[in-house]
This record gives sequence, C-alpha cells and structure tokens, in this order.
Amino acid sequence: RFITFEGIDGSGKSTQARRFAEALGGRGADVILTREPGGSSGAEEIRQLVLTGDPDRWSAETEILLFTAARRDHLEKTIEPALKAGKTVISDRFADSTRVYQGATRGDLRAMVDRLHTLMIGREPDLTFIIDMDPATALERGLARNSGEDRFEDFGLAFQETLRHGFLALAKAHPNRCVLIDGNRPVDQIASEIAAYA
Ligand code: C5P
Repeated sequence: RFITFEGIDGSGKSTQARRFAEALGGRGADVILTREPGGSSGAEEIRQLVLTGDPDRWSAETEILLFTAARRDHLEKTIEPALKAGKTVISDRFADSTRVYQGATRGDLRAMVDRLHTLMIGREPDLTFIIDMDPATALERGLARNSGEDRFEDFGLAFQETLRHGFLALAKAHPNRCVLIDGNRPVDQIASEIAAYA
C-alpha cells in the first residue's frame, strides 16, 4: 500500500506519518517512511536546490519542473521498488503538495501541474491523510521550528489560509482516497484515529 500525509506547514503531518509508520511496524508490517521533496538521494539534492537560496532563483514554472523531477526520482528509486517488494510506503507529502502549493501561488499553473503528473508520475496513493489545522496555530509552530534554512516556511497567514482551502478542496475532490483529519487535537488522539486505518 502507498499512503501519504498532507497538510500545511506546522500541521503535524510529519509527526503523524512517523506515528503511523510505527503503528504499522508494530503490527508486523514491512514499512518504509519517506518524504518529499526528497526521499531518494537525487531528490534530496533537488530539495536543496529548490528550498534554499535566493527565492527568485527559479521561476514558478521551473520550480514545478524541479518538484516533478524530484518526485520522478523518488518514485523510481524508492517508492516503486518498495511497493514491488510488498512493503507499505508512507510518504510525508506527495503530488497533492504540488497541486496545492504551486497551484495556490499560481492558479494558472494548475493545469501544467496536472499534465506533468500524468506524463511523468501517473501514480496516486491508495490512501491520503490530510491533516487539517488552524493556520494561525500551524504558522506559529512552523515559525518556532524554522531554522531559517527553508525559505518556504516564511509564509504569511493569508497564504496559509489559501493552502488550507486547497487541501480541503482536494479532500472533497478525491473522497475515495482522502481522509480529512482534525489536527487541532492532542497528538495521541490524532494518532489513534489514524491508527484505525492500519
Ligand atoms: O514538509 P516539509 O516542511 O519538509 O516541506 C518543505 C517545504 O517545501 C515546506 O515549507 C513547503 O512549504 C514546501 N513545499 C512546496 N511545494 C511542494 C512541497 C513542499 O512549496 N510541492
């Protein structure tokens, strides 16, 4: 099975992805926990290129190509081989992040994101947890944690709101694979709700 966790920065998705991987592992499943952008050595290099340095280094179009290139490498080198070997793959972010993040900044590029996905990726998760979270709280968490090396977390509240609505719209558009999780609760409570899907 291929399972992804999505949500805005500071939503707690990384913690929940780890907790779910531990829960599945505890039940004897062969699990790999991976992340995007990154998850393979080539994709981790692309992550550095895209997330650090001058914010104006890449145009929005080039950025989408870089995220897609990273995802393609992640898929070829990490995700597909693991699925083929019968493992459960849990990824902290996947294509939905590109749909929301790049689509939210530049709505006119959403069609390009979708076409590149069809052309180069073509895989959807079997199950996606979208951790929904109050953007103000998420922003506080994100800023408290940000070491300054990740230029993307320097977002304002209005942008976080836009992203949140993007994720909510995706959950609505793909009810077969997406489960919306209320992230405004204690970590353990959220984890046990998600563990029921193990
Ligand atoms: O989830 P994580 O914090 O590792 O993501 C790194 C950064 O990349 C985030 O701040 C997120 O805003 C950004 N990102 C993005 N577009 C994507 C995926 C991640 O802008 N498609």
